Amino acid sequence: MTKPSRPDTPPPPDTPVAAVRLVPLGPVDAFSCQLVAANLQALMDLTTDILPPRPVFPDAFMETRRQYDAVKLIKGLAEAVPGPALGLGLTGSDIGTPILTYVLGESQLGGRMAVVSTYRLTGVGHRIKLERLVKISLHEMAHVLGLGHCWQPQCLMRSPRNVGQIDELPLDFCDTCRYEIGRRVRRLLQEVRAALDGL
Ligand SMILES: [Zn+2]
Ligand SMILES: [Zn+2]
Repeated sequence: MTKPSRPDTPPPPDTPVAAVRLVPLGPVDAFSCQLVAANLQALMDLTTDILPPRPVFPDAFMETRRQYDAVKLIKGLAEAVPGPALGLGLTGSDIGTPILTYVLGESQLGGRMAVVSTYRLTGVGHRIKLERLVKISLHEMAHVLGLGHCWQPQCLMRSPRNVGQIDELPLDFCDTCRYEIGRRVRRLLQEVRAALDGL
């Protein structure tokens, strides 16, 4: 069945705009990237483009710790991904920060960038590993949208004390966080669309 056309209303935008650019940093399997992108879209309405893989930024390598500085990776991503779209780097390399020996993910609260590492997601089955990767990615992107941690027991924005606690969290947000995410994603999509129209 075709819908009657309404010439007095503007046509819907022809192509969905990408709110997030997912950047594989170094070798990351394509399925993991697609799964993260699909979940960003399904659970947060964040339309996501997967960019071609690029090498991990060499200047972020911390020689003495044999790992990459997550803060520097975020800085590199910010230069590689033009705004106002958000950027998410996925890497199989180990990442840490000057104050933390390692991190699973790092993000700019209310900024544009996050980076997530699969390096420490080992010792569990493939399915749990993928689930953890998706949960960490969504948690970090919610931080990028400006959300802090949440105390609701059934919310992905709880702060897990260790990697095992991630498994106890649902792959979903509480009503309050979901409302906030929706509000902020709508505003982001408007900004991304406006930037495209202005080209
Ligand atoms: Zn967090
Ligand atoms: Zn919440």
